Order: sequence, then structure tokens, then C-alpha cells
Amino acid sequence: MFQYLVSGGPLHFALVPHSPSDICEPQQKSCFCRFRLLFLLGLATVSAISPASAQEKAAKLEVVATFSILGDLARNVGGSHVDATALVGPNGDVHVYSPTPADAEAIRNARLVIVNGLGLEGWLPRLIESSGSNAITVVATHGIVPRKIAAGEILSRGHGAGAADPHAWQSVPNVEIYVGNIRDAMVAADPANATTYRANAAAYLTKLEALDHEVRETVARIPPDRRKVISTHDAFGYFAAAYDVTFVAPEGVSTETEPSARDIATIIAQIKKDRIPAVFLENVSDPRIMRQIASETGAAIGGTLYSDSLTNEKGEAPTYIAMVRHNISTIASALAN
Ligand code: ZN
Repeated sequence: MFQYLVSGGPLHFALVPHSPSDICEPQQKSCFCRFRLLFLLGLATVSAISPASAQEKAAKLEVVATFSILGDLARNVGGSHVDATALVGPNGDVHVYSPTPADAEAIRNARLVIVNGLGLEGWLPRLIESSGSNAITVVATHGIVPRKIAAGEILSRGHGAGAADPHAWQSVPNVEIYVGNIRDAMVAADPANATTYRANAAAYLTKLEALDHEVRETVARIPPDRRKVISTHDAFGYFAAAYDVTFVAPEGVSTETEPSARDIATIIAQIKKDRIPAVFLENVSDPRIMRQIASETGAAIGGTLYSDSLTNEKGEAPTYIAMVRHNISTIASALAN
């Protein structure tokens, strides 16, 4: 069982489930995660974290999320009561982020920090420690069953075979668990507005359930033998498992270095051998190589799939829901006969 302890200040606590039966499974959509607060070091109440003056009571809950997708979830749950910022903004790369002094300031002023966990934000613990933050930290993936990166999947960004795959948000039922965890953390950090956080979360969860149905219905219309794509980044393992679309990684190619001419020849042979109908580009990988591969194999370039970050407001994926909708419609049109 995973517990996330915040250190760096005098206060320490963790959000832990009542019992194993309280842990949400991805398929249990009605499951309500209940957490009790486990206080260490003799801390008596949550409100002691922030001695409240009248001015502070009127202020918004300062929330820092590590990257744009979590920031969007936080805004949906927090609504007008929170001021949510994301350290890694639209089109940024959360895997290899270098925090700035402004990020340390944001963390220091935050009352709640939302992280993905599963090894995604390797740069974060040092940032929290150096900032001197007393914020509550919630691990949004708490209660999710992590999938392991399998041998033969693309090895990238320090995540080798056997490590937990951090990209759990690519399955909508997982994000329903994220939202439950974020809701409970906001209620703990700001109990005065608990009713609003619960109502906002319930409304957003209804939208996510509809989104999940939409994805499943769209996949169901794709012939089963065409539900296969090749992609440069290993972000879609949870999507593949949830929705029965196979994502094939180019064999033996790291996303951290440019493929050699020999790598490209291997990939071209792989696409032909496995009869992969479509090649996808992503917003955090260099697309030029994939264009070349597509032109030499006849596989369709499927368009851009957004994996690890949202776009800005004028882009194709300004919110989590828009991102999932964009991805599934892009996949479906590339794989249609
Ligand atoms: Zn990633």
C-alpha cells in the first residue's frame, strides 16, 4: 500500500484507505474512496496546518499540480474555490522537467500539491524539500492498479521493463479514481467548502463516465483486425488495456536519441510484417522520423495523439476530456477502412 509522506516542514501526514476493500478498482465506477487522515507527530487537526485568519478564510485554496492534465482535473473539482496552477504547462514534458525558482515559490505558497506518482515526477521531491513547503500532497493514482512496463516495450525516460507505467490517466476509469483522490484531498485541505468539492466532483465524474462509454462505442465500430497502431512513445499502455487497441512501439528505439538509419529500417520491416495500418505522431516526440517511415511503408499517418500534456486553449486538447475525445476520434479515423 502506497503512502505519500510530506516532509520539509514540521507537519507530516498521509492519506491512507480505511481497509483494502475501500481501494477503488478501475471498473468500480460507483466506488467511493474514503480516506481517514493519519496524523503523525501528534498533529491534532487539519486546520492546524494553516492557522486561519479571517483573510485566509476568504482566500482561495492554492493548489499546485505537477502537470497540465492534473491541473485540469483540479480546476474541475475545485471550481471557483481553488486557484490551481500546473508546474509543467501545455505542451511541456513532465518526465524531464527542470523546476524554476518560480515553481519553488508556487510550491511554498500552495496548501495542496497534486502529483501523479508511479515514478513520473522524479524531479519533485527535491523541489518540495527545497521549497520548505508545508502543503498537503496527494498522489492522484492512489488506489490504481499500476501496469508494469513489459519487456519489448519502448524503453524511455528511465522507465525500464518491470517498472510501473506512470501514464495511468490514459484510461478514463483510472481518472475517475484520480478525481476521487483529488476531491478527498481538497475536502481535507479546505473542509469549509467540502460540499462544493463533492458536488463538483460528482458532476465531473458523470462526464467522465459518459466519455468512457463514448470511447468504447467508437472502438467497437473499428474492425478488430485493424485495432493496431505504431507510436513513438509508450504512453498508451493503459489506453490499450482499457479499450482493446494495440499500441506497438518501434522495436529497440529510444525516444531520447534519434533513430539511426538501421533503426528506421527495422521499424519499416516491423510495420510491414505486423501489417500495422497507422503511424502516430505525438506532441512530445520528434515527428520527422515517423513521417519518413509512413511514406516508405504506406501506413497512414494518423495525426497527433496527445499523451502527456494538454495543449493551450486554442489547441486540439485544452482539457482532459477534449484530449481523450481528440485521441479516440483520430485513432478511429485512421483505422477506418
Ligand atoms: Zn510519458
